[in-house]
Amino acid sequence: MSDTQSMGDPFVRFEKVQKSYDGEILVVKDLNLDIAKGEFLTMLGPSGSGKTTCLMMLAGFETATHGQIYLGKDPINDVPPHKRGIGMVFQNYALFPHMTVAENLAFPLEVRNMSKNDIETKVKRALDMVELGIFGNRMPAQLSGGQQQRVAVARALVFEPDLILMDEPLGALDKQLREQMQYEIKHIHERLGVTVVYVTHDQAEALTMSDRIAVFNDGVIQQLSSPSDLYERPQNSFVAQFIGENNKLSGKIKAVSGDVCTIELDGGGGTVEALAINIGAKGEQTTLSLRPERIEINPDKGSVPNTLKGKIEELIYLGDHVRTRMSVSGNSDFIVKVPNTHGHKLLKEGETAIVGWMTEDCRALDSLPST
Ligand code: ADP
Ligand code: MG
Repeated sequence: MSDTQSMGDPFVRFEKVQKSYDGEILVVKDLNLDIAKGEFLTMLGPSGSGKTTCLMMLAGFETATHGQIYLGKDPINDVPPHKRGIGMVFQNYALFPHMTVAENLAFPLEVRNMSKNDIETKVKRALDMVELGIFGNRMPAQLSGGQQQRVAVARALVFEPDLILMDEPLGALDKQLREQMQYEIKHIHERLGVTVVYVTHDQAEALTMSDRIAVFNDGVIQQLSSPSDLYERPQNSFVAQFIGENNKLSGKIKAVSGDVCTIELDGGGGTVEALAINIGAKGEQTTLSLRPERIEINPDKGSVPNTLKGKIEELIYLGDHVRTRMSVSGNSDFIVKVPNTHGHKLLKEGETAIVGWMTEDCRALDSLPST
């Protein structure tokens, strides 16, 4: 779902939600966010940006200082956590160490006073879902980290909640297992159609798993988009910098014509054209954003409208591409990814070279939106 499509009635709604722990500093500032039924929505942002606080308010373990949270049509600010019917998975699994895997899963059902038969069926189904059917009688300590995390996922699913919240659930796992679990959780989500609100600071994880991503910084959603929109169409410098790799060039706005602007680069680098995404008035400063794979070194004459002179500082051979660090218009950390295709041009460190790009691959972005 793209952010321009309407979603009908949201399943979760944050309406003008604010949170302060100390009565002074707002760690969540006027949050408005609608989440559709069945959606996989990720809150992504640096440490301290307010993601966990938002999840805890949705779960009911923290209360909003202002505003209202809705589940379906119902305001839930005053509903206690255990009456919200929400499943949760945390980073540190939080399995009961003295109970078997099956007993861990049965626990949330027993507190709901379910019959023994029902409990057995549901526990088995949940364990099968995460492919741990044969491990019901093991103790958590007898399982690997990945298996324990799968038990934690199964325990959140076992009472068949409509909504599951996950806070950095894969943070404790090594890289390979983390990537495998990302696909597993994504597939479970697809199979069950359950709504997932997922928190991570890992942009690759967010891009892999999510229908939409809300990028947080300093208690404010900077952008709410599909993964591809976030990468291809960042709306401000923070998002461009946080998602993927990004080259920045600063300059002054000389002219604006429709959605294209002309920018005079700082330090006498030259004049280039860019998409006018989020800029001020003529004469003001702006930051240009360029992805390293959209830049060509020594392009054929006339093939791209924007060219600048630069110097090749460092070449790093990475197999599928050569990571080329250049000095361009005062930026000595200007990265170009040169694909290792048949017949690609050979470059040398210390050489001067021309860098070029298409206007639609260069975005003029202001810094953070003000709140
Ligand atoms: P994130 O999950 O994005 O890392 P948090 O929501 O945990 O961010 O924290 C947001 C801000 O709120 C941080 O500045 C953090 O120090 C503060 N904070 C979080 N929990 C508490 C708490 N229980 N008491 C006081 N301050 C808190
Ligand atoms: Mg957190």
